[in-house]
Amino acid sequence: MSKKIAIIGGGIIGCLSAIKLRESGFAVVIVEKNKIGEESSWAGAGILFPLMPWAYSSEVYSLCESSSKFYEEFSKKLVQETGVDPEFFKTGMKLIEPKNLEEIQKWSKKNSYEIKNSTFNKSSAILFPFIAQIRPPRLMKAISLYINKIGIDVVENTELCKINNKEKILNKWGTKKGDPVEADYFLVTSGAWVSMIRPEYKNIIYPIRGQMIQYKASSLKINHILYFDGFYVLQRKDGVIIAGSTVEEVGFDKEIKSDSLNYLKKKAEQVIPALKNILVENHWVGFRPGTKNNIPIIGKDIKYENVYINSGHFRYGITMAPKSAEIINSLLVESKI
Ligand SMILES: Cc1cc2nc3c(=O)[nH]c(=O)nc-3n(C[C@H](O)[C@H](O)[C@H](O)COP(=O)(O)OP(=O)(O)OC[C@H]3O[C@@H](n4cnc5c(N)ncnc54)[C@H](O)[C@@H]3O)c2cc1C
Repeated sequence: MSKKIAIIGGGIIGCLSAIKLRESGFAVVIVEKNKIGEESSWAGAGILFPLMPWAYSSEVYSLCESSSKFYEEFSKKLVQETGVDPEFFKTGMKLIEPKNLEEIQKWSKKNSYEIKNSTFNKSSAILFPFIAQIRPPRLMKAISLYINKIGIDVVENTELCKINNKEKILNKWGTKKGDPVEADYFLVTSGAWVSMIRPEYKNIIYPIRGQMIQYKASSLKINHILYFDGFYVLQRKDGVIIAGSTVEEVGFDKEIKSDSLNYLKKKAEQVIPALKNILVENHWVGFRPGTKNNIPIIGKDIKYENVYINSGHFRYGITMAPKSAEIINSLLVESKI
């Protein structure tokens, strides 16, 4: 009989891990406190590469490098299987007024990525033609339909509690509703909320709020992801333009204030002044699972033998999810419990 694994949290990390583990023959259930894909994985911009890759460690880079290729193929499969298009497309990214040209050139040469000198509205720029984007709300919608098709069980509106167990091996994990979840293995993918059920991870994985705005579709066309002074603006296939983001350590505060709207508009309009005449139709917040230097925790729990963690992907969880899922799958396939 297949070993059963219960995955706690149905964001991009939980869902892609579930797909990999199902493909390896595990019986998989995702337990989600709300609905699949409605937290950080819904809120992101969907840029499939670090914004300044030369500034990160090789650990971050190795989790990111094959992402675009994965999503290009996976998106085709999702369209075929679910009819929902996650809108993968390789728009490339323009870094406007780069400050550290030499470092960027060195990085691109070392890693064999083509970059091109360019301009944007009379400013100097560098184009990274290989950078792609995906639309997170649509990606998560398609994935939620796909996981049902491949036999992954999903239990929504069910919140796991803090573990209350003296043994090193768990076979049940309590829920707030009462009935525990039973499994051979547990995988924690609860993003910014990890320390609420595994307090040992407090200050290791913590919420970092990000806010974004969306401008209504208009005749304005943007060909690339534009990145200027720590801020990006990009366009979806239907013409809406999104801009962001903030990086704030304020806990789980969801309140949206007018001063942040003004800040986001000011930054976006610095990049594209014509946005002044377009209506902002949406403004949202998401809680990234923050970690030091963007490096996630992928491996066995500090305390429990049959509990694993795949969380803390901070700013690049959509990008890192495929490789992280591969790593956690290998660890669980090799596990001897
Ligand atoms: C504004 C913003 C912009 C971003 N832009 C990008 C980008 O361009 N590119 C990129 O790669 N990444 C981006 N990110 C980061 C990326 O979105 C995250 O790193 C990624 O979504 C994390 O995925 P996750 O599955 O760990 O977390 P989540 O998507 O937050 O999923 C965790 C899930 O666990 C559930 N959960 C929590 N506690 C429990 C419990 N006790 N029991 C059951 N379920 C529980 C939650 O309800 C949630 O659904 C961005 C994030 C934000 C906020």
